[in-house]
Amino acid sequence: MAQFTDRVAVVTGASRGIGRGIALELAKRGATVVVNYHSSPDAANEIVKYIVSIGGAAMAVRADVSQEEDATALIKTAIDTYGKIDILVNNAGVTRDNVIMMMKAEDFDTVINTNLRSAWLCSKAAIRSMMRKRYGRIINISSVSGILGNGGQSNYSASKAGLIGLTKALAREVAPRGVTVNAVAPGFVLTDLTKDLPEEMTNQLNEHIPLGRWGEIEDVAYAVAFLASDQAAYITGHTLVVDGGMAM
Ligand code: NAP
Repeated sequence: MAQFTDRVAVVTGASRGIGRGIALELAKRGATVVVNYHSSPDAANEIVKYIVSIGGAAMAVRADVSQEEDATALIKTAIDTYGKIDILVNNAGVTRDNVIMMMKAEDFDTVINTNLRSAWLCSKAAIRSMMRKRYGRIINISSVSGILGNGGQSNYSASKAGLIGLTKALAREVAPRGVTVNAVAPGFVLTDLTKDLPEEMTNQLNEHIPLGRWGEIEDVAYAVAFLASDQAAYITGHTLVVDGGMAM
């Protein structure tokens, strides 16, 4: 098991779902975790309480990471409080699905800003501190939708494909300073984001997953923990697909 003692991690969108699972996994392995939330303060505070109850350190910070001022303040709070940021997990994400003819431009903008712009903003805010310390791990939560494309998700697929491009470009830029940048592309994981998919679609999806099941939140959290670990020091610019074989 990788150990993150003395490591400071910021996880965006950590109040629920996959982000919550990532925050808990990093904390269980010893990291101090900044639990970012947007509209779920109670859920975020509960996670902090739990982490503290198991002997860890954490704090909840509200920020709409699609907004520059909020994203910058989130990272600044982490650095001011704990002195540095070692691990940044850009996880916050939303969907606004529709066929392109029915999709409003504002739904395109919301998804791009929340899923992609946020990762750019948080990375920009964190990178100086990481480069100065000559250590950093940035992990962007993409999706198989960004690799395969998904009908009805032109906005979401574009945002998730954009994250893969951002990962590669930034990985090249900051590699000389010991900072790695990778992406994790989950397949389907049961969370608030996916719970309302029509049953017919769910059944169809299952047929395309060689391992025959949806992913668990922990499947994604373990992949993130690996990429955040010292054992992954020679991996950068990579997209680790965690999808039961769906996209191969
Ligand atoms: P979820 O359960 O709906 O949780 C989304 C999280 O994002 C919440 O904690 C929410 O915080 C946060 N968030 C949303 N907008 C935000 C904003 N503007 N600023 C800060 N935080 C914001 O979703 P999930 O399924 O865990 O998804 C997490 C990530 O994994 C997303 O990037 C998603 O695209 C990706 N992913 C999910 C799946 C899947 O099958 N579930 C598959 C592939 C990729 P509040 O509740 O506090 O607002």
